[in-house]
Amino acid sequence: MNDDTGRYPLKLEGDNIPMVSFRNVTKKYGDLTVLDRLDLDVAPGEMVTIIGPSGSGKTTVLRSLMTLETIDGGVIYVDGEPLTHMEKGGKLVRANQRHLRRMRAKIGMCFQHFNLFPHMTALENCMEGPVQVLGLPKDEARERALELLGMVGMSEKSDQHPSRLSGGQQQRVAIARALAMRPSVMLFDEVTSALDPEMIGEVTNVIRSLVDQHSLTMLMVTHQMGFAREISDRVCFFYGGSIEEQGAPATIFETPEKERTQQFLSAVL
Ligand code: ADP
Repeated sequence: MNDDTGRYPLKLEGDNIPMVSFRNVTKKYGDLTVLDRLDLDVAPGEMVTIIGPSGSGKTTVLRSLMTLETIDGGVIYVDGEPLTHMEKGGKLVRANQRHLRRMRAKIGMCFQHFNLFPHMTALENCMEGPVQVLGLPKDEARERALELLGMVGMSEKSDQHPSRLSGGQQQRVAIARALAMRPSVMLFDEVTSALDPEMIGEVTNVIRSLVDQHSLTMLMVTHQMGFAREISDRVCFFYGGSIEEQGAPATIFETPEKERTQQFLSAVL
């Protein structure tokens, strides 16, 4: 990591603190720069969608927020606090495990591949984290899990193991499982890409209802341009590891200014 962290605030303070803030974030694999001095803010309750060509760094943004990747420069803040750094003697230093655990708990993620625990029922999948990580009593965890399974339309399948569920049903359980941890930010990475076409709607409907009914902050990567347009507060078009153009969905999809955005959209729409 470049030790340029002296330039960054120890904490974000004041009004209008973003829920997520990438400040000048760089991520490299060898010679390949995957995130190139990325600045990205997501406001509390905002739904931001990232679109862009393959290899432009979209998934790396989400993986960095999950602390699955170590960034090489810049600082990421979640809820005003540095994600992988902490304050020591008035400076930002690399965070210890305790800080990382506390910060990770603020973020929930759903992947393309649902990664449910195969040996547990849908209900047990949704109880595991709250009981083991948050230390919730089992009864309370069960109640919360059943409520969330109801919200994603999976009440009747709560006793089934993942192998007995369709892809769309598994993905809905995966969303309930992530929500059971009460994250401040939800990340969705291509959650419909591995699904048969007839199952896409049931998953996008769940995400739509989250946007309509909850004040969760959400960051989504998708190839489904129609869905991105309909559901997002803001769309960010990524190119070469940074934001080439961003704005309201209608603006990005109807009157994009940058040539690269125009080219990308004319190829995919
Ligand atoms: P996107 O989601 O926009 O398709 P990614 O964030 O997945 O892009 O990847 C950005 C670039 O980083 C790609 O060129 C990819 O090949 C490369 N990359 C991703 N993970 C690794 C890795 N573990 N090692 C080397 N290169 C990687």
